[in-house]
Amino acid sequence: MKTSAQVVVIGGGVVGCSALYHLTKKGWTDVLLLERDQLTSGSTWHAAGGFHTLNGDPNVAMLQSYTVNLYKELEEKSGQSCGMHKSPGIMLADTPERMEFLKMTVARGRYLGMETEIISVAEAKNYFPFIEDRYFIGALLDPNEGHLDPSGTTYAYAKAAKLAGAQIEIQTMVEGLEQRTDGSWTVRTNKGDIHAEHVVNCGGLWAREVGRMVGIELPVLAMEHMYLVTDDIPEVTAFNKATGKEIGHVIDFGAESYLRQEGKGMVLGVYEQAGVPWSTRTTPWSFGQELLQPDLDRIAPSLEIAFKHFPALENAGIKRVINGPFTFAPDGNPLVGPVQGLRNFWCACGVMAGFSQGGGVGLALSNWMVDGDPGFDIWGMDVARYGSWATRDYTQAKVRENYSRRFRIRFPNEELPAARPQQTTPLYDAMRAQGAVMGDSWGMETPLWFAPPGEKAEDVVSFHRSNDFGPIGAECRAVREAVGVTEIANFAKYRIRGAGAEAWLLGMMTNTMPKDGRLILTPMLNPQGKLIGDFTIARLAEGDYMMWGSSQAQVYHMRWFEQHLPADGSVQIEALGMKLIGLSIAGPKAREVLAAMTDDDVSNAAFKFMDCRHMTIGNVPALVNRITYTGDLGYEIWVAPEYQYRLYQAIMAAGQPHGIRNFGMRALLCLRLEKHFGTWYREFRPIYGPFEAGLDRFVKLDKPDFIGKVAALKERADGPKRTRVFLEVDALDADVMGDEPIWVDGQVVGWVTSGGYGHFVQQSLAQGYIPTALVRPDLRLEVEILGERRPARLQMSPPLDPDALRMRM
Ligand SMILES: Cc1cc2nc3c(=O)[nH]c(=O)nc-3n(C[C@H](O)[C@H](O)[C@H](O)COP(=O)(O)OP(=O)(O)OC[C@H]3O[C@@H](n4cnc5c(N)ncnc54)[C@H](O)[C@@H]3O)c2cc1C
Repeated sequence: MKTSAQVVVIGGGVVGCSALYHLTKKGWTDVLLLERDQLTSGSTWHAAGGFHTLNGDPNVAMLQSYTVNLYKELEEKSGQSCGMHKSPGIMLADTPERMEFLKMTVARGRYLGMETEIISVAEAKNYFPFIEDRYFIGALLDPNEGHLDPSGTTYAYAKAAKLAGAQIEIQTMVEGLEQRTDGSWTVRTNKGDIHAEHVVNCGGLWAREVGRMVGIELPVLAMEHMYLVTDDIPEVTAFNKATGKEIGHVIDFGAESYLRQEGKGMVLGVYEQAGVPWSTRTTPWSFGQELLQPDLDRIAPSLEIAFKHFPALENAGIKRVINGPFTFAPDGNPLVGPVQGLRNFWCACGVMAGFSQGGGVGLALSNWMVDGDPGFDIWGMDVARYGSWATRDYTQAKVRENYSRRFRIRFPNEELPAARPQQTTPLYDAMRAQGAVMGDSWGMETPLWFAPPGEKAEDVVSFHRSNDFGPIGAECRAVREAVGVTEIANFAKYRIRGAGAEAWLLGMMTNTMPKDGRLILTPMLNPQGKLIGDFTIARLAEGDYMMWGSSQAQVYHMRWFEQHLPADGSVQIEALGMKLIGLSIAGPKAREVLAAMTDDDVSNAAFKFMDCRHMTIGNVPALVNRITYTGDLGYEIWVAPEYQYRLYQAIMAAGQPHGIRNFGMRALLCLRLEKHFGTWYREFRPIYGPFEAGLDRFVKLDKPDFIGKVAALKERADGPKRTRVFLEVDALDADVMGDEPIWVDGQVVGWVTSGGYGHFVQQSLAQGYIPTALVRPDLRLEVEILGERRPARLQMSPPLDPDALRMRM
């Protein structure tokens, strides 16, 4: 066995072998995979081997599409068959809501180039003959599905990697990992030590244990999963003979089941409600190629429905039942990428659909390791989307919830209850007492909207406008006409200090830095010139800055910042988390409310738009920013958590003469639409350049070098290929949610990034991207909402206050 390698990949399941293959494909051949047993010895060997491209996250869907299209290349390169059976997949809708969900899925797939379509139940029977018509109302057809041989596929990756120079050591157990001072790793194995520059955790069922070797607790947990294989079914053979084709794959949401042909019988797998986690604390190292005890009683409720829906199955004998464990992250998507705070330690684990996602995971990981960037937007599977709040108990609750909801619809206004509340502010009880419907914002409880007295503080989940529509409208009008107050704890907050702080920020951000007591807004780019951040920065004093960004991206951003801090210690950055929380007041009366709480002069002349100042507000020491995301006159008031309750009381007392109202996150997101403000991870993502996104005025190309400047100069010189646009939509009773296709002249030309109802301007609004060449004021567009193309028009300026006078009043 070699004693050093550029990369050691831990784990020889489908994901580890894909990572190894993709690294060689990128030209890194000094790569070594260590497997404690045989290849496939984790969850891989007993998988049902199904693959599909559909995923709720369009970017993950693209990577699944890449995986499915990779198998041909893999067979050719390795000479090893993957045992591919390509057959169409059908998703069956048994309720109007599921039908709407399928229509939305087809629409979202359009701009990704997916060939899915809605078909009738009669048409679905051409692919899957067993359907009992009366239970279903329609279906989605995906021609790009199938199943394969899990072991053959894993060996195909391994062989192709070996042919390109990689090495694989089986029966080699990684027992410990120690970081050296230069950031490289000593990998301790049962066969001796290996010195590796990089280590990749592809430990699958043991990913948690491998994480613990470096002191981290990854949010990943295995669930037991059962599928059964039937005896031969005569109808299967009859269908094969009559059509010359295999029976297609089916997902039956009602029965929480998937089905496909296996030999002359069928496979039927179930994601049951009463799902059982496996090895909740520690996965035994002794677990090998073995199966768990089947428990048919647990899946009986689903089987009962499946037998009604597909009567031919009811009398089929059961040849065998497989019960095996495989891992999930809390949201069911993989955990990929470098781990914040650990140099050269990478993850590719929590992959619950290794045969749909394994190729894409290997591709993203290898791009990231070799080029320093995954190459596309993989936020949906970035390990950095979880913070320390994703503890083991949190993970267990969320993974169980996610498993039981695998084939359930998630409505756009649906908040999932498991593991909540996890993090709360001191106002949690006070907000709930006033009718707040709370949402989970990356582990933090956040007021979404306030139910009027006497009404149930609960969302009626729907794809259409729902019971929150009226109350959100009232909250928006209160802000625009007088004043409102909202919690803003769910921002990321950073303090940056040191003699080198200014120079460092100038090199990281596209904008110039503010003067003392002033704020600026600035995007942050990667070297490819794509948006990787969007911040507000205040200069408190020389060498002392505050910065605000997206809370969900805090770990993602800290990982980037730490990678780029100067080695001389001249800059220190701290993520403040819940050490600083806040309240925002906004609306034409906001200044009067603020003035009533402080002795400071907060007149327009003394405290201008984009000013920032320490003040005592309502007897509380606070940092006040004159800025608001609503587009009105407004202030963000930041305090230590122990003062938040006191501050809230002061605000409510000072606001009472002006009729102050609470408003929630949903109203805030509607208000910002009326001003054409974008939001991180919807309008601003690492697939867009700053000029495409319309952030030109925050990109100072004439200042000295900053990361991404060369690419930004090129984007401006070439002219952005696509442009962020603003739409008013003739919506009926459903506004856009995001990811809907935009049509022009019968062609899909772009997509919506977010939208909703502008309650003050009384228009359904949306933002999205279309080719720049199409942008003109009289362009007629359509946005496909729930399968229906609704007319839309471009808005060349915001419908509210286009001259931005309200913020400056
Ligand atoms: C019943 C069942 C049905 C399934 N059906 C499907 C399906 O139809 N389609 C689909 O896409 N997916 C399916 N899956 C899921 C699929 O099996 C997983 O997504 C996939 O196997 C994950 O692969 P992996 O490489 O991440 O993990 P694993 O297969 O668990 O591999 C991890 C490997 O790492 C090794 N290892 C761990 N720690 C160490 C160490 N310290 N030193 C050395 N080696 C180590 C292990 O021995 C193991 O071989 C199914 C799973 C089950 C259980």
